[in-house]
Amino acid sequence: MTTLNDTSSEHPADSPSGPSSQSPAADPGLPFDGLPLPLAMLDILRQLDYRSMTPIQAASLPLALAGHDLIAQAKTGSGKTAAFALPLLTRLDVRRLAVQAMVLCPTRELADQVTQEIRRLARFEANIKVLSLCGGTPMRPQRDSLEHGAHVVVGTPGRIMDHLERGSLKLDALNTLVLDEADRMLDMGFHDDIAYVASRCPSARQTLLFSATYPEGIASLAARFLRTPQEVKLLEQHAGSKIRQRFYEVDHPARLQAVGKLLRHYRPASTLAFCNTRQQCRDLVEQLRAEGFAALALSGELEQRERDQVLIQFANRSCSVLVATDVAARGLDIAQLEAVINVDVTPDPEIHIHRIGRTGRGDEDGWALSLCSSADKRRVASIAQMMGFEPEWHALDELTAEEGQPLQAPMVSLLILGGRKDKIRPADVLGALTGEAGFKREQVGKITVTDQLTYVAVQHAIARDAVRRLSAGKLKGRKVNVRALEV
Ligand code: ADP
Ligand code: MG
Repeated sequence: MTTLNDTSSEHPADSPSGPSSQSPAADPGLPFDGLPLPLAMLDILRQLDYRSMTPIQAASLPLALAGHDLIAQAKTGSGKTAAFALPLLTRLDVRRLAVQAMVLCPTRELADQVTQEIRRLARFEANIKVLSLCGGTPMRPQRDSLEHGAHVVVGTPGRIMDHLERGSLKLDALNTLVLDEADRMLDMGFHDDIAYVASRCPSARQTLLFSATYPEGIASLAARFLRTPQEVKLLEQHAGSKIRQRFYEVDHPARLQAVGKLLRHYRPASTLAFCNTRQQCRDLVEQLRAEGFAALALSGELEQRERDQVLIQFANRSCSVLVATDVAARGLDIAQLEAVINVDVTPDPEIHIHRIGRTGRGDEDGWALSLCSSADKRRVASIAQMMGFEPEWHALDELTAEEGQPLQAPMVSLLILGGRKDKIRPADVLGALTGEAGFKREQVGKITVTDQLTYVAVQHAIARDAVRRLSAGKLKGRKVNVRALEV
């Protein structure tokens, strides 16, 4: 498919704007004192000026403190250390001078940072010993320190393995194993070392796996060493901060009409609306069209050519709402999506994250608006926990629906019967419209040439004229059949 993207013309000055007065303030985060932590620990957190939990901490601490194994993914600098340090520290029996927790890190620098952070947090109780065991320094002093006893060891897999083989490190009392920066440890070829170290740990233990990314190897590592782990994944920070999520409670039968209300209020130029079933997709498109919206369904039942046509119309802004199921939207990569509407909240948090991650790309802001019945609220709670945010609930009647002013798609698609096989190129179509026909370049949008067909987006105001002129003139020396596509 060849496309010619005429940029500026596609964004008339009246581009959509959300209601700025309602923009959420910077997220203050949840306080630590809702967690089952000793008061002395809360004091230390205050002294360190940790006023509230970071998102990954909010998502993982309740689970880790409850004893679950965990796979937690969040980018560097998001506060993962405290997310595993607090659970392992509060579980220590300080009177028992034996290694009760071990943290594996990929490098000495990272192990040193983790050691320091754990030591700072460990001040909530006197005499907690935290020992760093890394390569690049002599074994002997480390062996001596181990003989004196430690509660927590932090180290690189290779050196920890050495100590285990020489018998200087004993793990019978271990109850928490942490794999920090697991993705990097795998990159650095530590898989077998990790496997050896884990095999030497008591099987009744808690295992916490932290990672900045989630490459394939992580799942198999987790499958081997974790027990029915809970998963906590945070969206990339850039996406998380650009996507503004709102949840609207609505009775099930009223939700199709609620979509129109959202569209009239937020006025996004392009929206992808997700339904859980095909029937609901059909019903929604019908409803939206009746309300005057340019909506199309992307259903799994469409033939390839029809599917291409729908996607072309959406991409060239002649269709403003695309309604799809997750299956039909698979692999879809659409730039400039101002909003995602979840007509049904999906029961799968991963799918939710995937859905809303389609908006707020690059430098653009995006709205992720979800409709849910009171029965769906549990789904929202688990999504919020997994993503580490506090859901923002709104009422539908806050929406200032401007009746009689349906949102019009900025462009209309013209279909030309003739394509690459007929040697038509985008430049020929643009030339025909801006040459003899006399239209301005800004009035013409995206031009897409497929094997047999050509689609050209033009502004509403010139659509009829453009059809007339193109039909009267010639393309590549031949008369062509042209018509406007109704949406
Ligand atoms: P990660 O392991 O995810 O890369 P770190 O655990 O190293 O991130 O934390 C990054 C920085 O944020 C550290 O300086 C840490 O002290 C600080 N930090 C962690 N949690 C909080 C919090 N809740 N409030 C304020 N600062 C925090
Ligand atoms: Mg870290």
